[in-house]
Amino acid sequence: MNPFFTTDPIEVDRPTPCYWDPALWFSEAVDNVAEAKRLCGTCPVKARCLADALAQQEKHGVWGGLSASERADLLPVVEEPVETKCRAGFTSGVGTLRRLRALAANGWTLIALAHEARDLGLTESALAGLRRTRSGGLVTTVNADLVATLYARLQGIDGPNDETAKRARNRGWRTPAQWIGRDIDDPNTNHQIGA
Ligand code: SF4
Repeated sequence: MNPFFTTDPIEVDRPTPCYWDPALWFSEAVDNVAEAKRLCGTCPVKARCLADALAQQEKHGVWGGLSASERADLLPVVEEPVETKCRAGFTSGVGTLRRLRALAANGWTLIALAHEARDLGLTESALAGLRRTRSGGLVTTVNADLVATLYARLQGIDGPNDETAKRARNRGWRTPAQWIGRDIDDPNTNHQIGA
């Protein structure tokens, strides 16, 4: 496993600095932003994290060592057609996050998922970004549907990596079998979004 390939702590040998105190990375206090940026400087996946955040146009928090305003300065200004804005659909990321975590709890690494999702156009980078969706975050309805399709395919199949399954289960992520009978899309099902 290449630790530089993903910012997801489940995929790397040790958790990234933001894993321990995610609230610090979303604080707007000047001192906290500075501290989060400093800690990002010690993170082995900083470059990849910043690239992902720019690709996904993350609007909040410190990612890859840059604040939201600093990242915005790096993005090209693109005027979207009005119809595109109106049609753009977003939905709660709860179900998407839970599905990806459940697949991890069955041993599915992001690389293995991306392999299975080639026909859906879901890349490892896109899957990594979706699995970093924060509690209460939004995902596009297109991505939510694609992940639901992937989940429907793989939920009954064990993934290839026992260590990924072990780490995910140690973090309390439910397996697909444990979601049976529960509404995986209902944010009120459990206070812990991934569990
Ligand atoms: S670079 Fe990204 S993954 Fe690393 S600590 Fe900063 S926000 Fe977290």
